[in-house]
Amino acid sequence: MPLEETLFHRINVLQKTFDVSTKDRREALVHEMEKLERQGVDCRQCRGVCCTFVANSMQTTVLETIDLLFYLRQENRLNPDLIKQLHQTVTHYRLDRIPGDGQRDYIRRTYTCPFFQGGPVGCSISRWAKPYGCLGFNPHSPRQTEGGDCTSHTVLLEQREALYFEEERCQNRKLQQQLGLFWTKLPMPLALLEVLQKLELPETKIEA
Ligand code: SF4
Ligand code: SF4
Repeated sequence: MPLEETLFHRINVLQKTFDVSTKDRREALVHEMEKLERQGVDCRQCRGVCCTFVANSMQTTVLETIDLLFYLRQENRLNPDLIKQLHQTVTHYRLDRIPGDGQRDYIRRTYTCPFFQGGPVGCSISRWAKPYGCLGFNPHSPRQTEGGDCTSHTVLLEQREALYFEEERCQNRKLQQQLGLFWTKLPMPLALLEVLQKLELPETKIEA
């Protein structure tokens, strides 16, 4: 099927009509992270516990999922190996079996993020495409190794959310309608699989 006729293309075109860009929505959080880095407060010596099953339960909205997905496609990382890894993460941590009432989950399950590479590399996702919650979680003192002095910058996260609330609500609603999705947030690997299933991208097909 020509690219112009695919749902992926329609989503791409739709995203270009949004007033607030992927970068705008992350700017304040990235600047805060950069400020900490200039002060020598960064994650380079840490084993990355916040990205593993020890502490990570990151969920993404449809919009955040699309941001991540477009980034992965641009980097040529959308392939059957990644899809298998996403499935394995979902199955291993039972991310598709979280009890809830359809509006909210009763529990949050932790999982090791499929984009976590361990060691000094840590996260393999650009800060301009990461979920907001990942960007807002930072150390507060140098040479953290186990995340003992790391927290979410809730004030900044709430300020960001308030600033873009209407725009993001509108963007999420349009994306949900286009994709035929009924959830607002899911654990990141599951959210990616759900969106990818709708987009039917040829490079992500797993041979039977
Ligand atoms: S996207 Fe990056 S920062 Fe966020 S949980 Fe995954 S590895 Fe960690
Ligand atoms: S935010 Fe904290 S726990 Fe997470 S990688 Fe950085 S130093 Fe480690």
